[in-house]
Order: sequence, then C-alpha cells, then structure tokens
Amino acid sequence: MTELPARRLLLVHAHPDDESINNGATMARYAAEGAQVTLVTCTLGERGEVIPPGLRHLTGAALGAHRHQELTAATRELGVTDVRLLGGAGRYRDSGMMGLPDNEDPDCLWQADLDEAAGHLVAVIREVRPQVLVTYDDNGGYGHPDHIQAHRIAMRAADLAADPAVRPDLGEPWRIARVYWNRVPRSVAEAAFAQLQDDLAGLPFAKSAAIEDVPGVVADERITARVDGTAHAAAKAAAMRAHATQIEVAEPCFALSNELAQPLFTTEYYELVRGEGVAGVAGVAGVHSDLFAGIAGFGGTEEAS
Ligand SMILES: [Zn+2]
Repeated sequence: MTELPARRLLLVHAHPDDESINNGATMARYAAEGAQVTLVTCTLGERGEVIPPGLRHLTGAALGAHRHQELTAATRELGVTDVRLLGGAGRYRDSGMMGLPDNEDPDCLWQADLDEAAGHLVAVIREVRPQVLVTYDDNGGYGHPDHIQAHRIAMRAADLAADPAVRPDLGEPWRIARVYWNRVPRSVAEAAFAQLQDDLAGLPFAKSAAIEDVPGVVADERITARVDGTAHAAAKAAAMRAHATQIEVAEPCFALSNELAQPLFTTEYYELVRGEGVAGVAGVAGVHSDLFAGIAGFGGTEEAS
C-alpha cells in the first residue's frame, strides 16, 4: 500500500456543485498544502434545474453525465483529484426537492437503504482513513432530501467504519477523529447581505436572495472553525463557474437557477460536532483556523479569531 499523506480530509456531498459552493476554498487550501482531499458525491444531480438556455434539453441521465463532467472540471480547479460517486456513477439518483413525487423514485437517494448506502462510504473511509469528515447538519443545511440523506449516510458511515464487527471485508476499522458540519455564522451572513444590497445595481441579478436561502446559518457561538480561503478565492470562483448548468457567478456574488443573488463566501465556517476537541471548544474564543488543529499527532494549537 502506498503511504498516505499525513493529513486526510473527507467531504460528503449530495450533488455536483455543493462541494464548490460550501467548501471550495477549504478543499483548494488543503489540496495545495499536500493534504489528501477526498470528495464523495452521493448523486449526479439529475433533477437539477438548468440555467443556460442552450443546455436545458439535458434532463435525467444526460444531465447527470453532464454534471459529472462539470464536477471533474470543478475539482480540477480546486486541485482535488480523489473524487468518487457513492456506490459508483448513477447508483443513487437525485431525489428532487422535498415533497415532489420524485422523492418516491425507488432508485433515488431518499429511498436508499441507509446501511447499504453507508456501506459504500465505509469502504472509502477505511481506505483513505480521514482524520476529518465534513458534511451537512441533520437538516441537510436547508431541507433538501438528498442533503439530509447525505448527512445521515456520512454520520452512519463514520460510526460503522470504526466498528470492527462491521463488514470486516471492507478493511481495517478506522475512527474519524473529528466531524464538522458546514456552517455560516449569522453575523457574517447579515453583513454580506447588507453589502449585497449596495452591490446589486452592478450585478446581473435583479433580486437578492434572503439569509433564509443560505444553508447552515447559525448563531456565531456555534462556529468552531473558520478557514480563511482568501488565497484560494479565485479557485473557488472558477470551480463554481465550472458548474455552469447550476450556478451563475458574478463576484462577489452568485446565483442558482432561481436567479437570486447571494454572497460568494471565500472564508468558510464549520461547527465541530463530534470527536476530539469538542468538549474543549465553546464559543468564538476557541475558533480554529485549521480543521486539523489540536488533533492528536498534529500538535496544533487553538487560535483566537
Ligand atoms: Zn445539492
């Protein structure tokens, strides 16, 4: 077996584009620093709405194949090469927005057997042995069924991967030191939306989104890591642009298919929810600038924000 890099980061996402919007700067930073960055995307986003009129003929599997190419292009911009689709390409279909008949599709992620889906991720965890896992909160950040299911799969797989009694055929047990959820501190979101109102006249978007449209906004006290992605802002924007069917970028903003402008955050925020450091981290005074800081073996220290 080839030797693994010392620091190993695993991110679990629902659709192509979520990785770049939520974690693009973080992924680019750790890839540039020589850490192993592994992305597992659970579906190909076959039910996403397409923005460019010239591509709106793409639906279903054809859209999934196109979004797979967009994902490859986006992660190339981020310097990330280890990109996997849960269970293989097309194994789990996009479930559509909550409440639609699409949610009943027997092949969609929402209908997936949790332990079977988590089993695919257990194999990845035991292979790449990440110290840090990043995923969504239990509402998937904003209630999309695939995001909720990605959360459940990631959290379940983290448990199963550590249990020696579970699927010994999938490799040696591995305990992930830390699990983080994607977050945006409310004060940061409020300031960004205030600025956006001033910028809107010069942007190609007629209207602003609202804070409620941003996934994972929480009270500032819950933030435990703040990754300054300023040095990787261009890579993040380029990665988001690569998802042209889903995102229109006009820095410092972007819009999804609803054409509502929202801030493009180049600093990314996280809440530590499980593992080493949880007990000792409470409030802004304990905010880390490195997702690995303080994990045994890395010797990092907490840094005040
Ligand atoms: Zn998504």
